[in-house]
Amino acid sequence: MPTVGRYAPSPTGEMHLGNARTALLAWLHTRARGGTHILRIEDLDSGRVRPQAADLIRTDLTWLGLDWDKEYTQSQRLDYYAAVLSHLQTYPCTCTRREIAAAIKASAGAPHAPEPVYPGTCAQQPSNPDKPAALRWRVPDETVCFTDGWTKQTLCQYLPEEVGDFVLRRNDSVYAYHLAVVVDDALMNVTDIVRGADLLSSTPRQIALQRALNLPTPTYFHVALMTDFRGERLAKRGGAPSLKAMRERGVSAERILADLAHSLGWPVPGEVTAAELLSVYHQLLITKT
Ligand code: GLU
Ligand code: ZN
Repeated sequence: MPTVGRYAPSPTGEMHLGNARTALLAWLHTRARGGTHILRIEDLDSGRVRPQAADLIRTDLTWLGLDWDKEYTQSQRLDYYAAVLSHLQTYPCTCTRREIAAAIKASAGAPHAPEPVYPGTCAQQPSNPDKPAALRWRVPDETVCFTDGWTKQTLCQYLPEEVGDFVLRRNDSVYAYHLAVVVDDALMNVTDIVRGADLLSSTPRQIALQRALNLPTPTYFHVALMTDFRGERLAKRGGAPSLKAMRERGVSAERILADLAHSLGWPVPGEVTAAELLSVYHQLLITKT
């Protein structure tokens, strides 16, 4: 099966080194396998989208020498999400964040869950029927596991307790990321997903959606997040320097690529091109297998 890979950024701000590392690894992964590489702009959450951010991502990727064969923009694909949503068992939920937090506290269920699990308040009927409702998916009573393609670590989640009925369309009609990503990866025939490790715990629920919709499950490769000297994750908000700022300071793309390669432990000189990194990566692939 030919490899189809993708880089799927949210245009919410300027790319930093952590974003560039994910973009680089996704590109290397696809190109080393002679596959098709997709750029998918994930701009559904209009409240977080920044004007010009998508253009800047294209500029940054091109500057680094990371090309792509096809491009899609999620906000132009709403009809697909609507069509797929109608095949899933959902129910309207009118809970506010505060109501959910209070219900979790009152139920004393899974107090140590890393993220709040919706306690199913509206599963029988919405608690505030006259308010605008989100749509939640009634998750199957199943445990979903997957094994990461790089680390070979397996993560399992029991959906009712560790995930809960999650939102597929928000009460402002915005389709949820989990729905859009599953629909798009399937329609674009994506076989290999290289993305940040912040999405590790989202993977089982996305696989659950694929199964419910009879869609194939791609192989997942999660990239460790880059941290700063304080050990904190690089973030657009946390003041991580952007590629744009570095470029304007005169830092070369080759220098940035070399720094990213060093952060991965690859022995390269102080400046490399994307094409040179591709042959290093190819070599690593061959010696590893
Ligand atoms: N758009 C997501 C992000 O920027 C990534 C989605 C994915 O790769 O599955 O974090
Ligand atoms: Zn609810």
